[in-house]
Amino acid sequence: MNIHEYQAKALLRDYGAPVSDGRVVTKAEEAKTAAGELDGPLWVVKAQIHAGGRGKGHFAEADAGEKGGVRLAKSVEEAEAEAKKMLGRTLITHQTGPDGKQVNRVYFEDGSDIERELYLALLVDRTTSRISFVSSTEGGMDIEEVAAATPEKILSFSVDPATGYQPYHGRRIAFSLGLEGQAMKQCVKLMGILYQAFVEKDMEQLEINPLIVTDKGDLKVLDAKVGFDGNALYRHQDIAALRDETEEDPKELQASKYDLNYIALDGEIGCMVNGAGLAMATMDIIKLKGAEPANFLDVGGGATKEKVTEAFKIITSDKNVKGILVNIFGGIMRCDIIAEGVIAAVKEVGLKVPLVVRLEGTNVEKGKEIIQTSGLDVIAADDLSDAAEKIVKAVKG
Ligand code: GDP
Ligand code: MG
Repeated sequence: MNIHEYQAKALLRDYGAPVSDGRVVTKAEEAKTAAGELDGPLWVVKAQIHAGGRGKGHFAEADAGEKGGVRLAKSVEEAEAEAKKMLGRTLITHQTGPDGKQVNRVYFEDGSDIERELYLALLVDRTTSRISFVSSTEGGMDIEEVAAATPEKILSFSVDPATGYQPYHGRRIAFSLGLEGQAMKQCVKLMGILYQAFVEKDMEQLEINPLIVTDKGDLKVLDAKVGFDGNALYRHQDIAALRDETEEDPKELQASKYDLNYIALDGEIGCMVNGAGLAMATMDIIKLKGAEPANFLDVGGGATKEKVTEAFKIITSDKNVKGILVNIFGGIMRCDIIAEGVIAAVKEVGLKVPLVVRLEGTNVEKGKEIIQTSGLDVIAADDLSDAAEKIVKAVKG
């Protein structure tokens, strides 16, 4: 689960990280008062969406030369005016996709005078099964670009969980970033704070881009992007309360209400599969046969007919879906339950695209019979390869 920049900054501030004072608003009427509570002389007005690249992004239907989602203002009135221009509009960045995201919240921040912009991130490194620090002198840039063009400018190392964070980790980062004096000391302290917050709150990703050195030589967190491990949210009610459902894919949101493991993707073949491994294999083989999956979906072992129906409805609600592949290997899951769920869903929402069903395992004969006698226009398949070939052929001709 991701949160907004202003929420991430409030959290890090509580841990003692250096963050500027700020105020968030959701309505234009609140803008003047909120901006007026900050001292100036510089205000930063920042669109709050769950995507990076706001500064370099642009608004839909923007005038030529209009600035993106991060703007500087020199007075309360100017800050208020900029906020009003952002609220309710759609901001498009390289991370939002072409449709962009609606700006429902704007954050005012006390502006900083920047001497240097640096990059810092903590993440879970799956290779070492540890938390890694990633730092670079190239702040404000996309780290993927830095990694591709100048990998030598990135320092990355993981922390042994047995020792946890140690001051030498912080000094190593400070040294590679060229920090000295007070900034070096602040770096050692800040890295400890970030590591502690990361572990205690079960974060998956914490990216500070940029981490800045101010004109006075102090370190400051200027941007913050934080993601949490959804499976650990049950033990962080405070974090779960920060969830902004308007930022999430409506299909994924709906799926989470039914406890379905669903991830929306860009392709044209909707997939309904049981078991995460089989779901991954199904997506692979669709690609192998020349098409793209529209989603990942693991309906799970103990799914009910209602859950299967809901899953099918979510798949068909995706306007990019041109065909559906149901691939079930019934172990704990029974094939007849899947068949009943699919038929119930089709009766409710109709079937406007080709549907290939491959059933195998527990109660397979019963499942096939239910589908055959349903009168539905279903293409039956014998195995995974056959199923993928048939759906790709049905969609692409
Ligand atoms: P992003 O574009 O979504 O990553 O948003 P950021 O919060 O990183 O802001 C983008 C850029 O705006 C930063 O890299 C800075 O160059 C600039 N910026 C943000 N806050 C300030 C500030 O307080 N003062 C100044 N001078 N520039 C800022
Ligand atoms: Mg940034």
